Amino acid sequence: MLVDFFTRLLYCRGKWICFILFYKYGNKPCSIQLWPEETIIKIVTTVKEMQARSESIRNQEKKIAFVPTMGFLHDGHCSLLRKGRLSCDDLVLSIFVNPTQFSAGEDYDSYPRDLEKDLQLAEKEGVDTVFTPTKEELFGKNFQTGIELTKLPRHLCGLSRPSHFQGVALVVTKLFNIVKPHVAIFGEKDFQQLAIIRQMARDLDFDIRIEGGAIVREADGLAMSSRNTYLSSEQRKAALCLYNTLQKSKKMVEQGEKNSSNIINEMTIFIHRHKETQIDYISICDPETLDDIDSINGPVLMALAVKVGKTRLIDNMILSP
Ligand code: AMP
Repeated sequence: MLVDFFTRLLYCRGKWICFILFYKYGNKPCSIQLWPEETIIKIVTTVKEMQARSESIRNQEKKIAFVPTMGFLHDGHCSLLRKGRLSCDDLVLSIFVNPTQFSAGEDYDSYPRDLEKDLQLAEKEGVDTVFTPTKEELFGKNFQTGIELTKLPRHLCGLSRPSHFQGVALVVTKLFNIVKPHVAIFGEKDFQQLAIIRQMARDLDFDIRIEGGAIVREADGLAMSSRNTYLSSEQRKAALCLYNTLQKSKKMVEQGEKNSSNIINEMTIFIHRHKETQIDYISICDPETLDDIDSINGPVLMALAVKVGKTRLIDNMILSP
């Protein structure tokens, strides 16, 4: 009981050691409640325990909302947690840097991680359970199953990251089977990812409501991203060209420009004026199919990916005439 109390006290002070102690002792029954149970997040690292916990919550007729992330949380992630908190009894956050969505040469090893800070933010946002498995726990030695969508991944980010969405679809499917949520929330920042997960949920009859959350931006407009931390101060200034491109294009469309090529050509010149930028793609496309649109006669998705230095950034916006 004493250990339980000190564990919880230390955790609330944000000490890392608490994670280890709480993980070890947090489950032990405690006869006198010295700390209110609802302020303590449950940290789960195994598939079996997560499944058992979700099963028990479902058996109590409670609704589970789920926000999958790769951690290094910022306000974009937190906005999804807040949305989830409103629509459920039990809120689950997963933190897992998914190796299957990175290709060789990408930033899997260097991807920013800070579990202690993530747990503090999760607690602040009222998360009930953090599921944070190891890669061995999710993808054991003899793993051999894949999931592939035939159309949506052949656009936008899928062109330069050909196996990325297979990795995303696979891990999300596994997480759905483990967390068993009623609602899952994804950010519109990764518009193509959200479209793919919606499609997959329909195709595979997942009994899960997929919700989108609006892009959260820094004060100057840069879309929040865990990868923004890679940017030097010069690169941070240049990175603003993504948001400015979207704003300028929005204005062009509102002022009557219908020709997608005219906008893309002008924006290509604009982006290249910024230091260390390299365009991966600029696309004006159908928000459902992601097929290119040449002539703008209704709402379209403008999406772009630009490397600033070595950091690949994405952003998007719906443009309406
Ligand atoms: P990540 O940790 O980058 O895999 O992102 C986890 C979830 O947070 C995904 O559904 C992202 O689309 C979402 N997300 C990331 N950045 C933002 C943002 N700036 N605004 C809203 N959602 C975001």
